Amino acid sequence: MDEFKSISQMEVKSLKGLFFDIDDTFSTKGKITPEAYQAAWKLYRAGKILVPLTGRPAGWCDHIARMWPVHAVIGENGAFYCTMKKGRMQKYYTEETCREEKRIKKMATIKEEILREVPGAGVASDQSWREFDLAIDHGEDVTRLSRDKIERIVDIFKKHGANVRISSIHVNGWFGEYDKLTALRMYVKQELGMDLDNCNTEFAFIGDSPNDEPLFSYFKKSVGVANVRDYSPFLKTGPRYVTQQRNGMGFVELAEWILAVA
Ligand SMILES: [Mg+2]
Repeated sequence: MDEFKSISQMEVKSLKGLFFDIDDTFSTKGKITPEAYQAAWKLYRAGKILVPLTGRPAGWCDHIARMWPVHAVIGENGAFYCTMKKGRMQKYYTEETCREEKRIKKMATIKEEILREVPGAGVASDQSWREFDLAIDHGEDVTRLSRDKIERIVDIFKKHGANVRISSIHVNGWFGEYDKLTALRMYVKQELGMDLDNCNTEFAFIGDSPNDEPLFSYFKKSVGVANVRDYSPFLKTGPRYVTQQRNGMGFVELAEWILAVA
């Protein structure tokens, strides 16, 4: 992995917007600080397009799209995006086939195998509000699992042919050929009328962990909050730039840099 550059070296003058991960990028130790939330409001009021991309469930995304200062939210690692139009919620799915009965049954088998084979792992507390994926908790409401155990969970998902991503708190698995970038492309095309490939440099992305990897490698202006370094062993492609500060304060650092130069 290349050495990270400082965000002060990043060109932010022409930025139309910022796409961002939520857990441990926007949030800090499980909370959204006033500084981070205010930074989002400042960007929103400055006319920047703001879209969080998260592994969190559909239930959370309903709330986020309605109440946060954002233009849309991409949930369950790219299964869908939600956006408000004239005060009404609209939701667009990347792949309807994820609902197939045989996939649901297969996921139940995977869940049983993980819980049996990996002591200490648990189903994520937010699983009930998910539409598509299975989230295994590796450090949110369970005692943090070792790297070996996380890798064991990943292997079980893969063995059954599921896509799998590690976030800072969960290991998420799903059936379907999509990730956060797939849903983002769909959002940009349908809502902004642009091809993301033609406007890559007009947006920046900020994240912290391996489930952000498709975006780290895709965006020319990809940023990691400082804690992204904790995940170096799991990352094949890291962000191009990195903030000095960790978690939400890293988000604030980038927002202030964008607003200072804009
Ligand atoms: Mg994260």
